[in-house]
Amino acid sequence: MSLNIAIDGPAGAGKSTIAKAVAKKMNLIYVDTGAMYRAMALYMVKMNIDLKDTEKIIEAGKNVDITIRYEDGVQVVYLNGENVNAFLRTEAVGNAASTVSVIGEIRQKLVELQQKLAAESDCIMDGRDIGTCVLPNAQRKIYLTASSDVRAKRRYDELVAKGEECDLAKIKADIEERDYRDMHREVSPLKQAEDAILVDSSYMTIDEVIAEIIRICEM
Ligand code: C5P
Repeated sequence: MSLNIAIDGPAGAGKSTIAKAVAKKMNLIYVDTGAMYRAMALYMVKMNIDLKDTEKIIEAGKNVDITIRYEDGVQVVYLNGENVNAFLRTEAVGNAASTVSVIGEIRQKLVELQQKLAAESDCIMDGRDIGTCVLPNAQRKIYLTASSDVRAKRRYDELVAKGEECDLAKIKADIEERDYRDMHREVSPLKQAEDAILVDSSYMTIDEVIAEIIRICEM
């Protein structure tokens, strides 16, 4: 049986940074499930599908093939055969992902892919529903969070460092709106699994969080 570690939590809590570092230290594959929802959203945006039209999204979703490969230890997402990694990390795609991910039919397709990857390899997988739905038998489950003020400030600093113009209040409002949608959807809402360990990273450095999660995994 493979070793599976689940990390869930709201947008901007630092899940991917932490999961990547833990994967390296523990020699695991890092599975970024948000990237799969983002690729699905990117397809809808590219095809000009109205994101309010659930039926159209479900229909269009049938034409989507998402494949994951690991190249030099990095997860590469192929959308209908095309490497789309470079297009996934924008705010617009993140918000669209949060909209398409409320649809059960879309989730089902991606959850099957996630479960297959976890069965095949030792991995640390991050997302919103990993501990609760995708990998209910994961050996370790972590719920990583931080206050919305801290998460917005981290995102703001990241964008400023990239030279992008942005507005802290707007970023915070977007984060809170995304949290609300992720936590209140009918299918697989974001919540802490009963057997998950809570880590609040608001006042911790990245290295402190990594050390804490490795400690939890080795318990
Ligand atoms: O984690 P990331 O910001 O890349 O995820 C983008 C969106 O995809 C999230 O806001 C969430 O709505 C959705 N998602 C999900 N379930 C997951 C991973 C991501 O619903 N396991």
